[in-house]
Amino acid sequence: MLLSGFFQTALSNMPAQTTTALLAELKAIVGPGGYREGADIDVRNYKDVMGARTEAPLLLLRPDSTEQVAAILRACHAAGQPLAPQGGMTGLVSAAAPLADEIALSFERMKRVLEVDRFTSTMTVEAGVQLQTIQEEADANNLLFPLDLGARGSCTIGGNLSTNAGGNRVIRYGMARDLVLGIEAVLADGTIINGLHKLRKNNTGYDLKQLFIGSEGTLGVITRAVLKLSPKPSSQVVAMCGVKDFGRVSELLLHMQASLGSGLSAFEVIWQNTYRLIDTHVPHATVPMPDNYGFYVLIESMGSNAEKDTELFLASLGAASEQGLVEEVVIANSDTKIRNLWTVRDAAAEIYPGVGYMHTYDVSLNVSDMGYFGEEVERRLRARWPDAILGLFGHIGDGNVHIIIHVGPETRNLHQPIDEIIYGLIQELHGAVSAEHGIGLMKKPFLPYSKSESEISLMKVLKQALDPKGILSPGRIF
Ligand code: ZN
Repeated sequence: MLLSGFFQTALSNMPAQTTTALLAELKAIVGPGGYREGADIDVRNYKDVMGARTEAPLLLLRPDSTEQVAAILRACHAAGQPLAPQGGMTGLVSAAAPLADEIALSFERMKRVLEVDRFTSTMTVEAGVQLQTIQEEADANNLLFPLDLGARGSCTIGGNLSTNAGGNRVIRYGMARDLVLGIEAVLADGTIINGLHKLRKNNTGYDLKQLFIGSEGTLGVITRAVLKLSPKPSSQVVAMCGVKDFGRVSELLLHMQASLGSGLSAFEVIWQNTYRLIDTHVPHATVPMPDNYGFYVLIESMGSNAEKDTELFLASLGAASEQGLVEEVVIANSDTKIRNLWTVRDAAAEIYPGVGYMHTYDVSLNVSDMGYFGEEVERRLRARWPDAILGLFGHIGDGNVHIIIHVGPETRNLHQPIDEIIYGLIQELHGAVSAEHGIGLMKKPFLPYSKSESEISLMKVLKQALDPKGILSPGRIF
């Protein structure tokens, strides 16, 4: 792994006796059902989807209340014992998998939906609730929790918030950060910060919840949250368009934004290279049109009046076609067809078993630079590895593109040179080395490509103030 050796754990100098005493204290805090150790620790608690770690943590703690989390952190803070909080282990930057001598803090027993309040349109949940459970609970109450991503059935809201997850509907509803009204978190020293507010307007000084959202578990541990729900749309129309070049893709985005307004709920783009990989390697996804277009755009509109929304959607696409922006359009007019088009889009994340190991990138840049970016990435990769397999796709309405890359049998060992090509180009284009996945361990060396020295210094001041002993997810981010 590229980054082994980049970090040091605080535990290495700790006498073994202290460790034994601390472990006993921690076990007593959570009780018999609240921990696992040794061979009893399931591999899913130390191996994340990046598969980078294979070593079991010192101990797996499974608290079932905020008070237990606070007691755990108080004890670890006193002993200088590092911890790695974890959610569904679906992160893509290798942040939650515990490092050697760390204790894993799992929220798998804190998965209660505490309240759905129709009058404030909020849901209060514990950190370990799965995203899909939240979506279903909102739906059952005729409301919508719009955060949505491929890992919905395994990721947890605590992980979604601590990584500020994005996904498919950011264009309309924003990222995880925009979908939260209140947070309860525990600081490194065990102090509980109760900020479970339901107020939409709350300008009472610093917005403290934002310290814990997107900070990847380094500034505090999120234990509960008040989520902001939206009215459930009653109509959904989806189309896939074949588009000739990226210039037309960006014109199409402007056109659909102008004509659908807030109805536009997704604008997802699949480059031709990815479309062909999906067609070849993902048998359960049936591509809806030939593979000869440069780009495939999935457009979705959601609203509250099926008839009017469909009419507007069709008229907008008709105008786009007249202006020469789209070559071919497939419109999904039934739930099954809608699902099929989304299956094709989601299949972009399921190509790697067919191709072999693929590096996954998540970057942000100006939409106007994206066409060039796609061509230039390919040119630079092919200059070194002529047979490189790559695919681009992403949430282009938010300026977010994903890249999957396989350069040959040695791919797995070539992380660093491929990273240099991608992030070097991102730096040249003033983009962000992470759009929605975070920094974790994997992007740590490239943080300065997207953040200035003074920004990183301020981040370090915050870390020092909130976690002076550096016990929370040490070595992640910086
Ligand atoms: Zn994504």
